[in-house]
Amino acid sequence: MGIGAATESFPTGVELLIGADEIQHRVRELGSVISERYANQTIVTIAVLNGAVVFLSDLVRHITVPMEIDFLAVSSYGCGTRSSGEVRVLKDIETDLLGRHVIIVEDIVDTGRTLDVIHRMLLDRKPASLATCVLLDKPARREVHVHIDHTAFTIPDRFVVGYGLDSAGYYRNLPYIGVVKS
Ligand code: 5GP
Repeated sequence: MGIGAATESFPTGVELLIGADEIQHRVRELGSVISERYANQTIVTIAVLNGAVVFLSDLVRHITVPMEIDFLAVSSYGCGTRSSGEVRVLKDIETDLLGRHVIIVEDIVDTGRTLDVIHRMLLDRKPASLATCVLLDKPARREVHVHIDHTAFTIPDRFVVGYGLDSAGYYRNLPYIGVVKS
């Protein structure tokens, strides 16, 4: 059995939304766009744990400018599936951002509250520039305006899993993005 065969097997209850090949194609495109935009510069990419890890690890392999990787872990307080915007930092980055070109890499923007807080927090550290790169944009539920520089996919208002995104900790390892059927 070939390595790629696992792509076609879906866990019970998960409906395909974006296939593995489509994701890989788009991530490669984003890597090229970012490499051109930051030509002759060095960058710092900051992935928001845990959801952005898979996206970041594929993306960086298509970025050709010198770069560093760091990680930020946050927890959002809120009820149910809705974040309140009260974001607590569980793990801060270790890189000094002063005068650096920084890209925040996030899995999904829903209400926008989490990315808004992270963006303002990192802006306080006086980077030379601060951009946002998100795998999924779910604009239907936006409550706070956040500027997104790079989006891989815009999706409808569905709860998605796979390619780093979880449901109760599971499904992050799926190479595609799917919807958990209720
Ligand atoms: P926001 O603050 O934009 O409402 O929420 C962002 C966070 O909510 C994301 O980083 C992610 O952890 C979670 N989230 C929002 N929508 C989804 C979704 O459809 N699937 C999963 N797995 N997480 C989501």
